[in-house]
Amino acid sequence: MESKLRGLPSIDRLLSDPRIKKFEEAYSHSAITSLARQYLNEVRPLISSGNPCPSFDQMIEAVYARAQALQQVGPSPVLNATGVILHTNLGRAPLSQEAMTAMRLAATEYSNLELELDSGKRGSRQIHIQSLLCQVAGAEAAMAVNNNASGVLLALAALAKSKEVIISRGEEVEIGGGFRLPKIIRQSGAKLVEVGTTNRTYSTDYEEAITTRTAALLKVHSSNFEMLGFTQDVSLTELVQLGHQYDLLVLHDLGSGCLLDTTKFGLAYEPMVQESIAAGMDLAFFSGDKLLGGPQAGIIVGRKSLIDKLARHPLARAVRIDKIRLAGLAATLLHYLKDEATGKIPVWKMIATPLEAIGERSQKWTNSLNGLATVIDGESTVGGGSLPGSTLPTKLVAIKRKTGGAAEKLARSLRSQQPPVLGRIDKNAVLLDPRTISPNDDMALLHALSKVMVDEHSQKP
Ligand SMILES: *Cc1c(COP(=O)(O)O)cnc(C)c1O
Repeated sequence: MESKLRGLPSIDRLLSDPRIKKFEEAYSHSAITSLARQYLNEVRPLISSGNPCPSFDQMIEAVYARAQALQQVGPSPVLNATGVILHTNLGRAPLSQEAMTAMRLAATEYSNLELELDSGKRGSRQIHIQSLLCQVAGAEAAMAVNNNASGVLLALAALAKSKEVIISRGEEVEIGGGFRLPKIIRQSGAKLVEVGTTNRTYSTDYEEAITTRTAALLKVHSSNFEMLGFTQDVSLTELVQLGHQYDLLVLHDLGSGCLLDTTKFGLAYEPMVQESIAAGMDLAFFSGDKLLGGPQAGIIVGRKSLIDKLARHPLARAVRIDKIRLAGLAATLLHYLKDEATGKIPVWKMIATPLEAIGERSQKWTNSLNGLATVIDGESTVGGGSLPGSTLPTKLVAIKRKTGGAAEKLARSLRSQQPPVLGRIDKNAVLLDPRTISPNDDMALLHALSKVMVDEHSQKP
């Protein structure tokens, strides 16, 4: 066995091959050395366990491929034609131009991030979003942290550690990627007390569970699933009334952070931040990059005495929001105050796009596809843990393979374009939805489609 390992070249021999050596123009010697070493470390046990030793050329090819991959740093842009507006795997909300400009400035320049220009003294980074958030939410105080899950974690650690928090069994949400909200909450040191049944929870269920150890009642929006049929939950006002009667905090995890009335766009109703505060919630939590349409952030709005407590907690530093996203969040919030959200924030622009405008683009895309596509009626979804089961009517481009074969190959070939195009597969067709592609990207999309079609037409039937 040892003798077989002797067939492996030294690192120096791999590195001195001209095919590998040329990478040293672009990368440091140590980076390329470490790639080669990594490769040899991986093949050694394979050979020891009986696999044949690769040839020298195969080894060079393997190291070459790894060096080549260094050049494809990501995440890189894709064209989202899935029709899912907030696609968590595709980065949730794309940002407005104004948010991007603010973020670029925050990134490349020094700023008054934590400096009061008047006094010259140290200030709080939260100043930049506090009053904007208070105005859009109608709240007394506000702060932003890294993401919504960390906002909930911080609040419960600061306000309910070693105490009990009551939650309805119908609201114990798994938020995606295998993460379950109850588990995150337990990390705060708070004890979760579950009440009610999966489908029905009454005010009396909460009331019966209240003890001297109870710190808070927590309402969680079941943002990514929908319960139908024999269901019952407790309204915001009822829960607030009950909690305050017992001197408890009443907290609301809204998930999406919706500030506009979704029913005006033909969607189902999504709970709004303003309503939560108006109903008397002590704190409400939501994401920056779901329906709010901003960068990743966790936003907490509510009573000043509580927000002050959270800001002083050690975890606040651990889940702090960075300056770049803070700037993007401020610029996004400003769109709401200027009443221009549906014209400027991409998520809301997509939601508000009229069906006729989508139909025109579908037709244009279809015309470019040499008879392989048709326009069909379909549905776009909001996604990203918002409005489950609610859809917007759309016009899809349905592409079928010339050979009539499975659509997977077509989908793969669309994904291999620069930039990659992502669609949905339904039976034997790839479906593309113009709603989630910015009209500015139509040229890039048509270019990618034309390349895929050349491949298709050159194939034998
Ligand atoms: C999405 C969601 C979260 C997590 O938000 P992140 O910003 O991704 O951390 C938490 N709670 C609910 C109800 C959600 O929908």
